[in-house]
Amino acid sequence: MTAEPILLSDYAPPVWLVDQVSLTFRLSPGATRVLSEISFRPNPDRAPGAFRLDGEGLRLIAAAIDGAAVSPVIDASGLRCDVPDRPFVWTAEVEIAPEKNTALEGLYMSNHMYCTQCEAEGFRKITFYPDRPDVMAPFAVRIESDLPVLLSNGNPVAAGDGWAEWHDPWPKPAYLFALVAGDLVAVSDDFTTASGKQVKLNIWVRPGDQDKCDYALDALKRSMKWDEDSYGREYDLDVFNIVAVDDFNMGAMENKGLNIFNSKYVLASPQTATDDDFARIEAIIAHEYFHNWTGNRITCRDWFQLCLKEGLTVFRDQQFSGDMRSHAVKRIEDVLMLRARQFREDNGPLAHPVRPEAYVEINNFYTATVYEKGAEVIGMLKRLVGDDGYKAALDLYFTRHDGDAATIEDWLTVFQDATGRDLTQFKRWYSQAGTPRLTVTDDFSNGRYTLSFEQKTPKTPGQDDKLPQVIPIAVGLLNPNGDEIVPTTVLEMTEARQSFTFDGLAARPVPSILRGFSAPVIVQRDSTAQERAFLLAHDTDPFNKWEAGRALAKDVLIRMISEGAAPSAGLLDALHRVAGDDSLDPAFRALVLRLPSEDDMAQSLVDSGLTPDPGTIHATTRMLKTAIARHLSDLLPRLYADMACPGPYRPDAGDAGRRALRHSALAYLSRLDAGAQATAQYAAADNMTDQLGAFACLLEIGAGAAETRAFYDQWADDRLVLDKWFALQAGLAAPERAASTVKTLAKHPDFDWKNPNRFRSLIGAFATNAAGFHTPDGAGYDLVADWLIRLDGVNPQTAARMSTAFETWPRYDADRQDMMRAALSRIRAHPGLSRDLGEMADRLMGA
Ligand SMILES: [Zn+2]
Repeated sequence: MTAEPILLSDYAPPVWLVDQVSLTFRLSPGATRVLSEISFRPNPDRAPGAFRLDGEGLRLIAAAIDGAAVSPVIDASGLRCDVPDRPFVWTAEVEIAPEKNTALEGLYMSNHMYCTQCEAEGFRKITFYPDRPDVMAPFAVRIESDLPVLLSNGNPVAAGDGWAEWHDPWPKPAYLFALVAGDLVAVSDDFTTASGKQVKLNIWVRPGDQDKCDYALDALKRSMKWDEDSYGREYDLDVFNIVAVDDFNMGAMENKGLNIFNSKYVLASPQTATDDDFARIEAIIAHEYFHNWTGNRITCRDWFQLCLKEGLTVFRDQQFSGDMRSHAVKRIEDVLMLRARQFREDNGPLAHPVRPEAYVEINNFYTATVYEKGAEVIGMLKRLVGDDGYKAALDLYFTRHDGDAATIEDWLTVFQDATGRDLTQFKRWYSQAGTPRLTVTDDFSNGRYTLSFEQKTPKTPGQDDKLPQVIPIAVGLLNPNGDEIVPTTVLEMTEARQSFTFDGLAARPVPSILRGFSAPVIVQRDSTAQERAFLLAHDTDPFNKWEAGRALAKDVLIRMISEGAAPSAGLLDALHRVAGDDSLDPAFRALVLRLPSEDDMAQSLVDSGLTPDPGTIHATTRMLKTAIARHLSDLLPRLYADMACPGPYRPDAGDAGRRALRHSALAYLSRLDAGAQATAQYAAADNMTDQLGAFACLLEIGAGAAETRAFYDQWADDRLVLDKWFALQAGLAAPERAASTVKTLAKHPDFDWKNPNRFRSLIGAFATNAAGFHTPDGAGYDLVADWLIRLDGVNPQTAARMSTAFETWPRYDADRQDMMRAALSRIRAHPGLSRDLGEMADRLMGA
């Protein structure tokens, strides 16, 4: 099946607008009736045209216009109908079967609870409607069911025995519609907005999960306050509901007034959630809440503009997390993720611009490029116009576009109008795919220091020639004593090649380039190990301080792999110094002690002109870890003891940072004591961070058989903790045993593969086990391909998203390339393949 792509250039405004929507749901697992009453009027800005509504998998019972029955023509994607050339009321009744909906788009069931997911195009599986984001209307919803809790968007209006009515006064596109019905309990609180409005907050969960909501509720209140303080944005309804659901394709969804969350990102207690889980919950709660303004009040004109809401909202949640925790640590973590996911995407067959210009299935564009690179673009914009310019632009954006379905052009115009800055060239960040390479050379003579840059962006699918982009390069200079002589200065590069000079220097300085990771580019500069160690010791910019250590470790690993070199004393000494430097934040030290991932190393080898072998990378990384452990052996027991957190478990940044450093020490220590300390910690652990941290250390060194059994016995009834049990075993199994471990676990009675979290915890975690996935016999490729084909039959969206496991094929040797492409061809040829996975297989193979 080959579907025609949808093009940004084909955009046309809707022919019909909607003034009001009323929906009635008569819920029944196998035969839910949806009655709709929709007031249409011709769009005055468009010539009259045909009346077409989207709809998929709906059984039409009856339809009428102004009360007179009509017989529309129905096809696979919707209906057409003759309508009068004036405002009219459309009514329809359709039947759907939520219990048969395994794709988890539209109205579906999870543990006897009704739930919806409409972004991007799920509403058309609920009723016939112009399912596009530029059609916005107020919704009134009536739910009829004998389930005790019946929720929809907006404010509750009335309720009785077996029914409830909701009204959302804020015009919204259909993708923000939500409905939940189930046997749920609420954990509640109140929030008073800056202007004194009382808002009722509820987190709805299954009975028994009430004790795991406190952290999410607290994060929600902090998010609401932060958005008032930082962006002047208040909440605008009487209630804010969050529902936790176990079967969910994504992280969470920002439906107006009724956020629906993957339970993984709501439920947390010290016993069941790790520090990382708590941090993610805080960030995702904030992200979805912030969408109320950036996404809901101002939405996207069409799905090509997805980065308008996602890039901005990711940027906002990153700012929030930085304010709540540590900006330095948060920035490093965000860049680690950007490189692991977005740079990887940008370097492969799936590379696409932040604002794509064509798609077959929009679900395939909820990508790291749209989200994470989209956020980086906003960070650059803020750096270029300054904090005051950014604030003025955002104020204007909210004033000018409240209630609009807007575009990237609208967004940039706001910045131009508020700051007077021409952003014509800057806009290329939205249209050009690929990660720019920034080559740096320098020169020093007669007290003048010159930094010269050249930018070049590699070819990406459909884009051969790239134009120069505006790159804000934050730079600082240090003198040979380690003192900063030029504080952070932003150089604005606009040409393909450009030089910048600094005068009046007594000696050749050491440059600190791209401070704070001021642009999503790859810096290429010949640098010595001494210079990297110098910056790791002296740089005042925390990001570049970390980056120097990172680069040093990469250089050492590359030389170990390509030349058989020994681990360098320079790196080992530098790590010893940082690890033992109590003036540094423990969380920062833990990040410095973390070696680059094996996937990251594979790409670094490619960038150095080498062909990576995942088995060699794995073995070499282990060798380096052991060398570090030996070199730090005097320090590790002290570090482990010092970083113990006194008192009861608290998920705050301070304690989490201490535990992170403690577990770095434990991981190295385990290579020296055969896991003795980790075994003791596992036995004594009273929180999941300590328990899972010790468990991971044991699996890493090939131990932990008893703990694997004990962990299962302890947590067999907790679905979220059990996901961790599957994921750790799949992710940390030794390469030669990884595929067979996963095959065995896939037969486990608790491997409920139709649940997206569980599927990701086993098959997804296996795909991140680089050496295990890429074994030379191709067993890993076959295993993942088989599972993707199987999952595609029930949940195309999740199957398509997980096919990115294959996006790195061009990196590897000819044999691996052939095997990965063969696996993709086999997927592509499968009869009845979904549009989602079909498009991904085509793009992955470069078709
Ligand atoms: Zn979002």
